[in-house]
Parts: sequence; structure tokens; C-alpha cells
Amino acid sequence: MTGIEPAEMFDKAEAIVRDDGFMEFRLDYLPRPGLAVPKIKKFTELHPHVFSIATCRRGVGGGRFRGSLAAQLEILTRAADNGCQLVDVELEGAEKAKPGVLQKLRTRAALILSYHDFRCTRKLENILERMTAIPADFYKIVTTATTLSDNVVMMKFLEEHSDRHSLIGLCMGEQGIISRVLGVRAGSVFTFAAAHPGQETGAGQVSAQELRSTYRIEGLDAATRVFGVAGDPIAHSLSPIIMNTALRRENVNGVYLALHAKTLPDLMACVRDIPIHGLSITMPYKGAILEHLDNTDSHTAKIGACNTIVRAQDGKLYGFNTDTSGVVRPLEQRLPLQGAKILVVGAGGAARAAVFGLKERGCEVYILNRSMPAGQKLARSAKARLVKRADLRKLTFDVIINATPVGMGSSKESPLNPDEINARYLLEMIYDPPETRLVQLARTRGVDVIPGIEMLVQQAARQFEIWTGKPAPTDEMLRIANIALQEQTARKAGGKATAKKKQLS
Ligand code: NAP
Repeated sequence: MTGIEPAEMFDKAEAIVRDDGFMEFRLDYLPRPGLAVPKIKKFTELHPHVFSIATCRRGVGGGRFRGSLAAQLEILTRAADNGCQLVDVELEGAEKAKPGVLQKLRTRAALILSYHDFRCTRKLENILERMTAIPADFYKIVTTATTLSDNVVMMKFLEEHSDRHSLIGLCMGEQGIISRVLGVRAGSVFTFAAAHPGQETGAGQVSAQELRSTYRIEGLDAATRVFGVAGDPIAHSLSPIIMNTALRRENVNGVYLALHAKTLPDLMACVRDIPIHGLSITMPYKGAILEHLDNTDSHTAKIGACNTIVRAQDGKLYGFNTDTSGVVRPLEQRLPLQGAKILVVGAGGAARAAVFGLKERGCEVYILNRSMPAGQKLARSAKARLVKRADLRKLTFDVIINATPVGMGSSKESPLNPDEINARYLLEMIYDPPETRLVQLARTRGVDVIPGIEMLVQQAARQFEIWTGKPAPTDEMLRIANIALQEQTARKAGGKATAKKKQLS
């Protein structure tokens, strides 16, 4: 819990106290932390069921308190005397404290001895040895994940030492998400989360609400299967919210995480060590992942790109491509595919998944690509027809599919001109933004638009079925995906407006 004034901090605490019976007051965020003590007293008297930690971290431990060690300990003592059951003191300070001072503090509240490494995750055993020289009730070690494998290091450390010490362990940073969600299962006594999005006190921290409702942290146990989406970048992926919704809805004991994989060897080490049962693979690894797999189905081998991995019971990794289902399913809900005339714009991985899948369904497939050789190669291998741009305005199709990135993000470009959009349906693979220039042009020409989010959900639904053997709750997945996409679009628009305002002021 943070705030720039005690009143703000405790208003926030009041707002979440019904849902959260455990909170940390970051007194070091206040300009004068001592002024919060009467508020602590009032709050803890009013809510005796709440467990609260008082933290007043000094600069040496990565906090904001600029006072001396003695002043820090004085504030923590007063917080303890006024109702906080736990106090946090960083190792650097504790090692300098006079003998007996910490023990005296410990008679008033349980002591969390904490250590933070803001650069990496290493030498955890040495740190623990240093820490356990000082008697405390909990030892908290927070490091920074610079690889996905750092999470494995942290979790193995927790598994090995948590039966002898009461440990709290996690990795900060975007890549630390695995330890934030799975650390408790590995032996961490508890974990830390932001009271609300935007109120994070550590890099990569997620909100308490997200930990509970998206990742269902309270239900994770040894049998929970771990799934994830791996790519670089991955921060804005909608897959975690879509997949965790599906897992919850279908009562599958599983959790799905966004894995920022900077290299494939790092990712593969995690798949082996955690272990991960199923993976969605996204840019830029859909092709390169193939050589790390034990087997793929013939369809995936033909496409040359894999977006789904299953880890079988024998530990072997099998690759599939569900982008095909992402294209075929929304189309077959709208028109008969046998004999349908379909133009695919692009010849990359997504285009290949579409072209081969549609050919298998009996469609008449046409390909238009910026570079002729790539288009020719795909047309030849799939027995599809290559179209020249100059001929396009004379042709009509049942469906046009955009499988290029043209129009993504803030781009206002369209891969096709208005007079080249002659079709009943447009499937726009891009979903961010939801309204690309191509979508706008298609609408003005009376073309029915199938949004990219539908493809994303349908390919995810197929992944869900492969992993769990259950039908996917597709409608619920699409509903939640649309909400998440709207929120993401609004956040981006808000961010841009703020940046513009700053520029003007
Ligand atoms: P990719 O393998 O990099 O292929 C990109 C294709 O687009 C290539 O054929 C490339 O042509 C063409 N292209 C790139 N820039 C172009 C430009 N400025 N003008 C004309 N053509 C251009 O990418 P991918 O994985 O196939 O993905 C393609 C798009 O589909 C991306 O926007 C991706 O986000 C989207 N997608 C969406 C979903 C979903 O679930 N909704 C799933 C997969 C992919 P050249 O051969 O000439 O380079």
C-alpha cells in the first residue's frame, strides 16, 4: 500500500480491506512516515482481522526512506506497537544494527529480514547464509530475473530450503512472472502484489486482483499444469487473459503465463525444468522453434511454422499449428468453404497456415504477395494461384484475408486500395488496432469484416482443446478478449493523450 500522504495510503487500504486481509504499508513512500502511526492504530483497531506489514525501506535496500537506521527502527517499533503484526528490515540495515535492537523489535512484531537484488538472480545460498546469521521470523529474498531460467533458480532454491526456514522468494522484472505466480507452490510463505494496477512497488509486480482472478493463485497446487505463451516482445499479449479465463471456466487445474523469451535455449530450459505442459509460440519464434521439437504433425511441417507445443507424459515435445483453425473456423461459420474463392494477401507464416488449411477444405485459393518469389514458392507448394497486383481490381472473391502486418499499431496504411477490395468478407488478421485502415475501407465498400481477434480466439480455442481434451468455451473467450482489447486500446489512447499534453505544456 503506497501513498504520498497517510490519508491517501489508508483510504486505499480501506477500499480493499474487504477483499484483502493481508497488506503491506510502504511507510517509506511517505515524506514523513512517523505521521502514519496514528492512522495505523486506527486502521488496525477497526480491522483486527487484517495482517499488516510495516516497511520503511531505506535507500540502501532500494527504498525511499532517507533517514538513519535508528530512525527507521524507531518508526517500525511504533508501527508494531500500534498494531502492525509484521515489520520488514533489510539485511544491509540489520547487519549494522546494534545487537539486541532487532531482538527487542521482534518481541513486538514478527520480523521479516529482506534482501533485494535489483540486477540479477545469483548466489541465493550465500545470501541465505548471511541472512540466517540474524534471527528472524521470515527471510525474504527478492532478486531480478534477466532470463526465464532465473525463475527456475529461485523456485529450486525455495524447494530446497523452505522446510528449514520460513522463506519468501520471488524474482522482479517482466520475466519474473513465473516466480510471482508459482513461488508459493515452490515453498514461498506468501508473495507480494500491487493493491491496484499502477500502484506497483516492484518491477514486474502484478495486482492482487490479477493474481487471484486471472492466475487463481490460491488454488495452485502440485498438480496444477503450467501453460504459457512465449515470444519477444510479449507484454501486450492477450493470450493470458483469454486462456486463464478458459481454464477457469472449464475447471481445469492449470495456469497460463506470459513468458518473455529473449532466447529459445532459455525458453526450452524452462519447459524442461518447471515443467511447462503446453506452450503457445508467437513472434519471432514460430519457425525457429521447430528444430527444438521431437515431432510435429504433417500439416505443421508443411507450413513450416509452429504456434502450439504439447509436452507429452514422456517429456517429448510435439508441435502443432492452430493458426489454421484460427482462419478456417470463423470462415466456416459464415460460408461453405468447398469451392469458395479466397484471396490471401501475404506469404509469411500466417499466410501459409491459411493457404494450406483452406486448400485442405476445398477452397480456390489465390495469393498476392509483395515479393513475387515468396508468393510463387507458396503458390507452387500449396497448388494455389498467384495473383499480380495489376489484375486485382478485375477480380472478385468470397473472402479476402490480410496476412501482412500492414496497418498494425499506429500505421494508417492499407495493403489494398479501395477498388481492390472486391469480396463478401474481409478477414483482417491484425487485431491491434481493431479498426485498421483496410477494415475501414472494406466497410465503406459494404464488405463484412471478420476481426483479427476472432482468429486469435479460435486459434487459442484449438490450443485449449489439444492441451485439455475438452471443448473450449469459445464464446466466453471471445467476450473476455474483446473487453481486454478495448481496455488495451483505451489505455494506449490515454497514454498518447497524456504524452501529447506533456508536449504541449
Ligand atoms: P511474417 O511471417 O513476417 O510475414 C509477413 C508477410 O507480410 C510477408 O508475406 C511479407 O511480404 C508481407 N509484408 C510485410 N510488410 C509488408 C508491406 N509493407 N507491404 C506488403 N506486404 C508486406 O508475418 P506472419 O507471422 O505471417 O504475420 C502476418 C500478420 O498476421 C501479422 O500482422 C500478425 O500479427 C498477424 N497474425 C495474426 C494472428 C491472429 O491470431 N489474429 C495470428 C498470426 C498472425 P514479403 O514476402 O514481401 O516480405
